[in-house]
Amino acid sequence: MSFTLARFILTSGISTQAGSTARNHGSLLLTPRARKFTTTAIPLAQKSSEELLVVVGGGAAGVFGAIRAKTLAPNLKVVVIEKGKPLSKVKISGGGRCNVTNGHCTDNLILAEHYPRGHKELRGSFFYTHGPVDTMSWFSDHGAKLKIEDDGRVFPVSNSSSSIIDCLMSEATRLGVSLQTGKAVTTASATSGGKFLIKIEKRTINYVEYVEADYLLIASGSSQQGYSLAAQLGHAIVDPVPSLFTFKIEDSQLAELSGVTFPKVKAKLKLDNVQSNIPQLTQVGPMLVTHWGFSGPVVLRLSAWGARNLFSSGYKGMLVVDFTPDLHIEDVKSILNKHKHQFVKQKAVNSCPSEFGLVKRFWKYMLDREGLSEDMLWASVSNNSLISVASLLKHCKFKVTGKGQFKDEFVTAGGVPLSEIVLNTMESKIHSRLYFAGEVLNVDGVTGGFNFQNAWSGGYIAGTSIGKLAINAYLQEGVL
Ligand SMILES: Cc1cc2nc3c(=O)[nH]c(=O)nc-3n(C[C@H](O)[C@H](O)[C@H](O)COP(=O)(O)OP(=O)(O)OC[C@H]3O[C@@H](n4cnc5c(N)ncnc54)[C@H](O)[C@@H]3O)c2cc1C
Repeated sequence: MSFTLARFILTSGISTQAGSTARNHGSLLLTPRARKFTTTAIPLAQKSSEELLVVVGGGAAGVFGAIRAKTLAPNLKVVVIEKGKPLSKVKISGGGRCNVTNGHCTDNLILAEHYPRGHKELRGSFFYTHGPVDTMSWFSDHGAKLKIEDDGRVFPVSNSSSSIIDCLMSEATRLGVSLQTGKAVTTASATSGGKFLIKIEKRTINYVEYVEADYLLIASGSSQQGYSLAAQLGHAIVDPVPSLFTFKIEDSQLAELSGVTFPKVKAKLKLDNVQSNIPQLTQVGPMLVTHWGFSGPVVLRLSAWGARNLFSSGYKGMLVVDFTPDLHIEDVKSILNKHKHQFVKQKAVNSCPSEFGLVKRFWKYMLDREGLSEDMLWASVSNNSLISVASLLKHCKFKVTGKGQFKDEFVTAGGVPLSEIVLNTMESKIHSRLYFAGEVLNVDGVTGGFNFQNAWSGGYIAGTSIGKLAINAYLQEGVL
């Protein structure tokens, strides 16, 4: 049987089957060997008034967007196509606990500053429409009790990401959102009638469906396939690069200190390809030594703000750390001087001034770097050595030689540029009724729940816009 797209659409257009409607929410299954049509898992629309939203991706943004659209417009048929398992990143997130959002950022301007990509654009309507407080209320109202930890991270009281998954899945089921797993949307194009023709394939068997949707929400995370769909629909893609990683440091003695933590350092990342002084490339906070270098909030924030420049520099740079950020260098010198005179007969390596708050192992490392032997008594430490130690404490340089991993969180910088999206609706500026939400956009946050917040906010706004349009369409048909 010869088979063309045009004929296919005509054949599956339901113009004869479902009365005179021009709508096509049905789809056909084409098995290449048998070349046979059968009706498929996505049921045909029963009423002329029933519109179809297809959501690409059953992650946080897609599922939340689907729920919101279906909440506002119960008459809208909402189908989520997920190529793997739904909410799989929610499952593994936050070490299995799911850091849902951040509870310390109630000021939306401050909140926006936590997004290396998006900090300017997200200052506007985005978080005002659905911010962290709304996220917390939504989950609490739907049975997932949350708690805010001291550092602002919000987790389910159960300490298990399953609570979040169960909450979202049961709400989606209750509303009648159709979640189809094991299927990928492989191509998408806009039809002359202002709809979207979507090709859906199963990865395991020869199986192809074509669906015509009234609304399309692309919430495909950092998947290459999702970027490709956006590009097919005319969108640009900012090259995706990793964000949120640890630093590999070339220093064998440092590696022996793995596990040492610093409650507060000030660290500056210097990169050859960054000429201007970018304030965010200096960060203050906790840091820790790993087997391969440094990790901790300070390093992760630097990795996020420097993600693009680090990528183009091949992850080579210099980390300059101030281990006593609350002390002026002159104070550090006078503390050292006083300590020397107080403990003249003690080995320098065995007594670190308590004001510095450093563990003995790290103090020994610093003295080693200055060439002070293990047996040297404070009495023998020269004034020049004291000055050098003070200067090392304030400006300790480490050569960054590569990128490690951060097992608790990992995101991709890059994706669909925000300049191509209307942020108060999440609609594409290129095609009406096409929406984006979540990590597929060129938005990424630092650690602390900010990445999920982007997904909840984007999904909510897109779902609201689609739901409102669907309700209006329904009303205009005079059904209500
Ligand atoms: C290990 C880890 C831990 C994390 N922990 C946290 C945390 O605690 N807090 C936090 O805020 N952030 C965390 N993040 C980041 C957070 O998970 C993401 O920012 C968030 O999941 C993005 O949501 P999304 O819905 O946009 O994308 P995703 O969650 O990636 O969902 C996209 C979905 O789309 C599907 N898909 C893609 N293409 C197609 C296609 N063509 N057809 C069908 N389906 C498709 C994918 O299979 C995927 O399920 C973590 C990330 C990782 C990797």
